Amino acid sequence: MTVLVTGGAGYIGSHMVLELLEAGEKVVVLDNLSTGFRWAVPASVPLVVGDFGDEDLVTETLARYDVESIVHFAAKIVVPDSVTDPLGYYLNNTAKARTLIECAVDSGVRNFIFSSTAAVYGDPQHNPVMEDEPLKPLSPYGRSKLMVEWMLQDAANAHDLHYAVLRYFNVAGADPKGRAGQSTAQATHLIKVAVQAALGHRPGMELFGTDYATPDGSCVRDYIQVSDLAAAHMDALRYLRAGGENITCNCGYAHGYSVLEVIDVVKKVSGVDFPVKISGRRAGDPAAIVAGNDKIKSVLGWTPKYDDLEQIVRQALHWEQHLHRMGTANSARIAPAKIAPAK
Ligand code: UDP
Repeated sequence: MTVLVTGGAGYIGSHMVLELLEAGEKVVVLDNLSTGFRWAVPASVPLVVGDFGDEDLVTETLARYDVESIVHFAAKIVVPDSVTDPLGYYLNNTAKARTLIECAVDSGVRNFIFSSTAAVYGDPQHNPVMEDEPLKPLSPYGRSKLMVEWMLQDAANAHDLHYAVLRYFNVAGADPKGRAGQSTAQATHLIKVAVQAALGHRPGMELFGTDYATPDGSCVRDYIQVSDLAAAHMDALRYLRAGGENITCNCGYAHGYSVLEVIDVVKKVSGVDFPVKISGRRAGDPAAIVAGNDKIKSVLGWTPKYDDLEQIVRQALHWEQHLHRMGTANSARIAPAKIAPAK
């Protein structure tokens, strides 16, 4: 019995593969390498290069590897891009996910773990936000993920499919053993951008908005370390295998940092006072969003190990230096062999 990891050559997926291997699981990765890297998949793990919306390829892969569970990471994830290319996001994140779920049902895959997002809450009324808060996504990205949550609920009602939906808050950091990290050169996420600025890999950074109704005027987010997030998926897998009910959980630490606080920590840890340009608000950014995490702790038994922003930033810095040394951030992108990348 094997676990299929879609997007296993990407940031969070590659950490999940490590987590699964450490737990002694058999793993197969499906990734079209549009943003992931071949080298991010350990040599012992079969990598199927292709699209998770390719029905024939997915059906064949599920049968060949005797897949029992799917952990579905592959997605387009840049909120501003989803505003300019909503149909691309609905095709990739929603329509293709429907195909994947259908293949799972038709092939008798029992468990499905889905990467959802705090973006489904939009600008929440309460923080920390609980899972039963109204769902009001502000972006096509958030809506493209929410629709998959709904499809999973309906499919699980109708078929022998069991799901865990994990709503990620702000994922950051890198594998503490230095084996994996965030490798996309064009990353837009705050800690990655700030770390690149600190290392001189970009001339500086922009801070989007200092006029929010938060203590220092910049947005507040809950930064969850990526290996802690992978561990949450492992907990979800064990829970579903033990017969747990379908479940939707927030993944975060239940406390947040402002953008200004994060920038200060990156400056402190790196020792570099890089330039920060104050810019206007970025479209679709909620003022503050912090995860209520009672449910994931009590029901899945999740115990975070790396809830420490300085440590997260240090991991991100080390990974960025490693990437720079390897010269891989731009040069080692490997084009998909046969199948066209997702739009
Ligand atoms: N942010 C920023 N400059 C950047 C990238 C992000 O000021 O170069 C801010 C962004 O406006 C938001 C916070 O940092 O308030 C977190 O953004 P990120 O893109 O990391 O994650 P998101 O919360 O959008 O998922």
